[in-house]
Amino acid sequence: CGIVGYIGKRDVAPLLLEGLQRLEYRGYDSAGIVVTSPKASGLKMVKAKGRVRDLEAKVPARFKGTTGIAHTRWATHGAPSDVNAHPHLDPEGKVAVVHNGIIDNASDLRRKLEADGVEFVSETDTEVLVHLIARSQAEKLEDRVRETLRLIEGTYGIAVLHADFPDRIVVARNGSPVVLGIGEKEMFVASDIAALVTHTRQIVTLDDGEMATLKADDFRTYTTEGTRTTAEPTTVEWEA
Ligand code: GLU
Repeated sequence: CGIVGYIGKRDVAPLLLEGLQRLEYRGYDSAGIVVTSPKASGLKMVKAKGRVRDLEAKVPARFKGTTGIAHTRWATHGAPSDVNAHPHLDPEGKVAVVHNGIIDNASDLRRKLEADGVEFVSETDTEVLVHLIARSQAEKLEDRVRETLRLIEGTYGIAVLHADFPDRIVVARNGSPVVLGIGEKEMFVASDIAALVTHTRQIVTLDDGEMATLKADDFRTYTTEGTRTTAEPTTVEWEA
């Protein structure tokens, strides 16, 4: 339903929670957040059924990070619950994914993964993405995501965080909006510019079949086949 992400130097949790609040008008049944930082040794995650303020109440005082992704969920596969809320993590806790949309061939992919010994913890269609990315042998995170998306049928706006690649967020879009917010030595991503405009008016809207890598001081866009695309930020007017 709603995605917000940030990479930069600021304390990321309050910033993402505020972004989620700006997406509340869309309706949702649960929410979650995962954070890391260049020096951190892993990902920290909190999820909660209910409202963004229920999530906020569960976030510990020491939940520091300068990179993170967050989500408000509108359940399509699996009841609203803490476990089914996004982000979803692989068993090692290294890959985190938030997803808007519906993976049509999720039950097929899930069956294949389970036959291969993978244990699922949620009932969501989204969780297949995490296991597929985690199992990819490709060197680059972008290629791991690309390989995974090749197997996917359905709609998605996704943001991916990986503990071994803490300098980047990888995002992709197919039938579910993803917009990038370009800042000064910081980058934002969201499913709706409403979550970005308090921070930047420099916006790049991804097309279907497009991906992007966000680093604190740089971004690039490319197709799911890996061809670079040009993305000149446009300045949006917005009455707050
Ligand atoms: N299909 C996913 C789920 O049920 C994502 C739903 C959404 O767009 O929030 O978890």
